[in-house]
Amino acid sequence: MIPAAPRFIFVTGGVVSSVGKGIAAASIGALLQARGFSVRLKKLEPYINVDPGTINPYKHGEVYVTDDGGETDLDMGHYERFTGVPTRSIDLLTTGKVYSAVIARERRGDYLGSDIQVVPHITDEIKHRVLFSVENVDFVICEVGGTVGDIEGLPFLEAIRQLRNDLGRERSVNVHLTLLPYIASAGELKTKPSQHSVRELLRTGIQPEFLICRSTQGFEETTRKKLALFCNVPETHIVDAPDASSIYQIPLNFHKSDLDGALCQYFSLSSPRIDLKKWENLLIKLQSPKDTLRLGIFGKYAHFLEAYKSLQEAIAHAGGAQDVKIDVRWVDTEDIGSVQAALPEVQAMIVPGGFGARGVPGKLQVIQYAREHKIPFLGICLGLQLVIIEAARHLLALPEASSTEFGETSEPVIALMIEWMQGEQLQRRTAQGDLGGTMRLGAYPCTIIQGTKLAAVYDGKKEVSERHRHRYEVNSAYKERLEEVGLRFSGLSPDGDLLEAVEYKDHPWFVAVQYHPEFKSRPFAPHPLFVHLVQAALHQKKSKR
Ligand code: GLN
Repeated sequence: MIPAAPRFIFVTGGVVSSVGKGIAAASIGALLQARGFSVRLKKLEPYINVDPGTINPYKHGEVYVTDDGGETDLDMGHYERFTGVPTRSIDLLTTGKVYSAVIARERRGDYLGSDIQVVPHITDEIKHRVLFSVENVDFVICEVGGTVGDIEGLPFLEAIRQLRNDLGRERSVNVHLTLLPYIASAGELKTKPSQHSVRELLRTGIQPEFLICRSTQGFEETTRKKLALFCNVPETHIVDAPDASSIYQIPLNFHKSDLDGALCQYFSLSSPRIDLKKWENLLIKLQSPKDTLRLGIFGKYAHFLEAYKSLQEAIAHAGGAQDVKIDVRWVDTEDIGSVQAALPEVQAMIVPGGFGARGVPGKLQVIQYAREHKIPFLGICLGLQLVIIEAARHLLALPEASSTEFGETSEPVIALMIEWMQGEQLQRRTAQGDLGGTMRLGAYPCTIIQGTKLAAVYDGKKEVSERHRHRYEVNSAYKERLEEVGLRFSGLSPDGDLLEAVEYKDHPWFVAVQYHPEFKSRPFAPHPLFVHLVQAALHQKKSKR
């Protein structure tokens, strides 16, 4: 059934991947919001994985976790940061999810003996999911992953072609993102790849109404005319998208080409005045720092920063809020030499989340250094678990202390939890469980112990909700002993069973959390854990001057 209200904007990409479709879709959302419309973003991912939870973040970028426990794509993080609208696991459609649903129905006999085909069964399932749960918004923006011409993308494009007929042109539009390469010997930007890409899209039956053209420095009017002529798109619907120094510049750049105005006109909407003041102010904040800070991030995928997208953004948000430029040093903890060289140079440290034993000795060194040298420190997820291991080994003199994730140990200070409650439901996991299904995922409440640094971070709130993605937990059998040697458990699950946050009492600022605060940081609402880390480091820097 076609829902009555929303209009649909389908965002496709051509020429090459990585031209920023996710940011483009998020920016369109932000611009429409700035005109007073409500939006929801969805992503259509052609890969076969059911979700990116099992994809190596080194290959595909970070796994972004939603409140409802969806393991989704990093673009969903951009959607949330740009629009502030929390994403849901159903907002990510993958080939894996679509086929699983159709095959499960086929096994149940729901198709009454029909042979199951890509058209209409798979495309119907895609259409159903695009239209699902979008009743209350003015616009749904659907980004199609991959590049036009990819084999896996075809069913999604076919579904969009059908949907555009079902909805009608007046309720749907295709915005196609392309790249204009600069050929130095000719001294020109080339439009030919964009022409081919539009032609490829036309082969699937979709004529794009808008083009967003990426280039290093923007294009001239002659290029616009040529694109309009060969791609069959009105000149006023071609958006100049030069490289920008900050992703938060993109909505403003699109507005310069009047993308939002042209979209309103296309949908025959009387377009209320746009208010982009908050975006302008954000950029001023981000681009005029008054101080600098060197922050070390000690992780595993340090050479592939997409794996830490939300972390990077959360740090930028906190820097902007404190008027400081944060110079991040990404240190690969498998390289102990680099760890040791970086330690004396950084003014704040983060040990982020991670999986597996690789790089753990280096991370433990970092934690010991931060503790002993009183460097402001934030541990996230695995970072918290290693804080516990470091304390048990060095303060409780338990050299065997470890996590069962890294192999058998006689002192399992971090161990697998077998059962826990999610709302009213009992959840279970086993060491042999399905990789995709054994984690504590999504939003859980955390009770904050008053009088702690964590309570100051959350401004005296008694309970907060934060997102999780991990299998192992702190073994509460060690809690008392750890507290005797200076650790303080400042955040607990409401029933007190799960340890959510820990800090050192006699340290200027050393906090570690079992959850991932970076998923909830927004440019307009930086996460207070990062803000407090930055504040503590700035304070220490000033007092050393
Ligand atoms: N590997 C640890 C666990 O599964 C930590 C996970 C993480 O840092 N996201 O519990």
